[in-house]
Amino acid sequence: MRSEIKFIADGMLGSLARWLRIIGFDTEYFSGRDKYFLSYRARNQGRIVLTRDRNFVSQNRPISIFIESENLRLQLREVKKKSNLKFDREKFFTLCSLCNLPLEKKKLEDVLIYVPEYVGKTQKNFSQCKRCSRIYWQGTHYQRMLEFINSVEADEE
Ligand SMILES: [Zn+2]
Repeated sequence: MRSEIKFIADGMLGSLARWLRIIGFDTEYFSGRDKYFLSYRARNQGRIVLTRDRNFVSQNRPISIFIESENLRLQLREVKKKSNLKFDREKFFTLCSLCNLPLEKKKLEDVLIYVPEYVGKTQKNFSQCKRCSRIYWQGTHYQRMLEFINSVEADEE
């Protein structure tokens, strides 16, 4: 299944990595300079390298995608097109956007003391990252993010 595709984004592409996670794709972020390590890690873990380094791409063609644009929305479209990705609504917001780990569903009573009062009053569905403990819910921020993802898909062709 193509939906199990995994990525590793290099140092220039931190926002892209974060958004791929939000959309539900397992994406590591590698900010180091050692391109040999980047290549090794990608091969070792079966990840596709996303990079703005043309030399790297020409030396690692089968496992890398050159990202041309500096604009996040266009970058997402590039990844989508070049790796033939299908966005799956069910997977949106299932990974921590910082840690790249699956979120755990939480009940209101589990998170009540950690979230602002108005959030506790208006939201029902919560999830939390095991590593960084960040709590996610579907507030106005979520709606804006969803609109952004939709706009990435709508721009096509
Ligand atoms: Zn986290």
